[in-house]
Amino acid sequence: NKQIILKNYVTGFPKETDMELVSSSIKLKVPEGSKAVLVKNLYLSCDPFMRPRMSKPETESYIAGYTPGSVITGFGVSKVVDSGYPDLKEGDLVWGMTGWEEFSLISMPETLRKITFTDVPLSYYTGILGMPGLTAYAGLFELCSPKKGENVYVSAASGAVGQLVGQFAKSIGCYVVGSAGSKEKVELLKTKFGFDEAFNYKEENDLVAALKRCFPQGIDIYFENVGGPMLDAVLLNMREKGRIAVCGLISQYNREKPEGVFNLFCLISKRIRMEGLLVFDHWHLYPQFVENISKSIIEGKIVYVEDIVEGLESAPSALIGLFSGRNVGKQVVLLARE
Ligand code: NDP
Repeated sequence: NKQIILKNYVTGFPKETDMELVSSSIKLKVPEGSKAVLVKNLYLSCDPFMRPRMSKPETESYIAGYTPGSVITGFGVSKVVDSGYPDLKEGDLVWGMTGWEEFSLISMPETLRKITFTDVPLSYYTGILGMPGLTAYAGLFELCSPKKGENVYVSAASGAVGQLVGQFAKSIGCYVVGSAGSKEKVELLKTKFGFDEAFNYKEENDLVAALKRCFPQGIDIYFENVGGPMLDAVLLNMREKGRIAVCGLISQYNREKPEGVFNLFCLISKRIRMEGLLVFDHWHLYPQFVENISKSIIEGKIVYVEDIVEGLESAPSALIGLFSGRNVGKQVVLLARE
């Protein structure tokens, strides 16, 4: 059973050598009397929150960290090979937390979700129909209560979450602007995802001015994915009674000391509501969400771009690529098609 383990706790920008490909043997049978499920992993998801999990445990977090020497875990799509759990049987497709390895023994099978709708690529359950999809949906609709005609800004807009936030906001008639880190991504935002406007934040030497250019009347809703100087620039451009969903702060994940945020007085002067988002609080919305979104995908009302690399050995560099913006769309690792 090939596996990717964390070699050492990570400080600063992660490197491929922080992880290692190892081999171990595994019995392709669930132990007698156990309620565990043995799965073959088909697709692995690379997600930014995996980086904080590689830091020493004292770092502020909402999920347990990895232990050096142990297999990396994350979301994935898998096929059941053997099951001691009555609700799952051999051949079932599932998504949920699994290991970065060919086969995983899942000791808490109740955390897996059975995949019944298979008219879309299975990899979508790592993205649009999985955790990032629900993140975009809950963050926008539950935290920000968008209304038709409001001005919405999304950072890291071409990624797994951002591309959906923009499309969801457009679908209800908002004016939507996104930022991303390359010309190719900016094009994608405008042509493929239907954003009204987009800019390359790496080419702007004045983010406050860039936002002013895109939102002369100000921003009603900011979907925060990056943090740092972008958040400061946004605060100065927010309108009164604006809402900010703080989904992620990827620009800070590799820093030993987070950057300061200086314009918080805007929260008071403009009565802005800024709220942290944790997708795990919103699982109850998932069944309804998946039903609606599946329909929208089939009807072509929503599109999704993925960046798929092949083979377990490609997983460490794919994960690290999230922090330099190498991925175009949702980063997925294909291990096996079935
Ligand atoms: P993406 O698919 O968007 O990949 C990460 C992207 O972030 C990169 O492609 C890159 O795009 C951008 N990025 C990397 N470093 C920086 C930087 N220093 N400054 C600005 N942008 C940077 O990831 P996801 O869509 O999966 O995640 C987006 C955010 O949502 C993350 O912050 C993540 O932690 C958060 N998240 C939070 C959840 C929650 O429950 N709170 C759940 C899921 C995700 P570019 O080329 O544009 O720079």
